[in-house]
Amino acid sequence: MGVYSEKVIAEVNEQLDPRAVLELIGYHTDKLQESAETFRGFCPIHRETVFRTLIIDKSKRTFRCMYSLCKGAAGGTLVELYALAKELSLENALEELVAHFQLNVQLPVDPEYLEKQAEVGENYLELGYLDEAEKVFLDIVAADAVFERAIRGLIHVYEQRGESESLGRQHAALAQILIQRGERSAAEEHVRAWAQYLPDDPQSHRYLGDYLVEQGDMESALEEFMMAADLYAAQGKYEEAIEAYTHVDSLQLDLVDVVPHVLQIYEQMEQPQKAVQFLRERAEAAVLRAD
Ligand SMILES: [Zn+2]
Repeated sequence: MGVYSEKVIAEVNEQLDPRAVLELIGYHTDKLQESAETFRGFCPIHRETVFRTLIIDKSKRTFRCMYSLCKGAAGGTLVELYALAKELSLENALEELVAHFQLNVQLPVDPEYLEKQAEVGENYLELGYLDEAEKVFLDIVAADAVFERAIRGLIHVYEQRGESESLGRQHAALAQILIQRGERSAAEEHVRAWAQYLPDDPQSHRYLGDYLVEQGDMESALEEFMMAADLYAAQGKYEEAIEAYTHVDSLQLDLVDVVPHVLQIYEQMEQPQKAVQFLRERAEAAVLRAD
């Protein structure tokens, strides 16, 4: 069993044009013989040069090779033909074909397979084989970016190796998965680790600020929001910077004046009319509060 189920492979295979697949493989396609039901040609798997041992059933979209020592002798789908001829894994062959022919298929991965792989990774981890564990977990995440067990596995790998940047990235991924799922309190420790290991990533500080507000630690929250805003501004992400500054403004802490920061950003964006609008709305809000 592989990352993709047999159903998905069949679905892709059904959409393949046999001649186009052979041309993509590109092995002596000038020697192809076409009949109503079949193509016969030089086998690209064992790289035949004399006989047309490759037979493709055009309607079933299957192949076999008549040379008994060929890896393709057992036959299979066009996806398998492509995988064997190009020496790719079935997964990679499938992905390449879908991408190349822009096929209209979703490639859902088999969750059972990924769970089993996660177990393999965790066993490596337990034995202290960090490189092997990392590879297994990265493969899982490549197939399913929000596979929590694999991300937790990677966190363990990078903790043991002391690789803070990679560690920060995995904490960031896990934090965002948990936040998306609405598990905000579970996400907090990962937001904190994210901010700690990737201090230049504004998003972590923006999130952390929200947690601190909820906990009533306004001064620390302010620090995080301002850090987020300054980092966004420095990275040219002006919309995000303004959002963070105006968020500080809306907290009405009277600890910091964000107005010059916001005006400076609108100046950098060359949008003076927005600066005027910002000042007007701010003044109107102040009048409303005074009433
Ligand atoms: Zn062959």
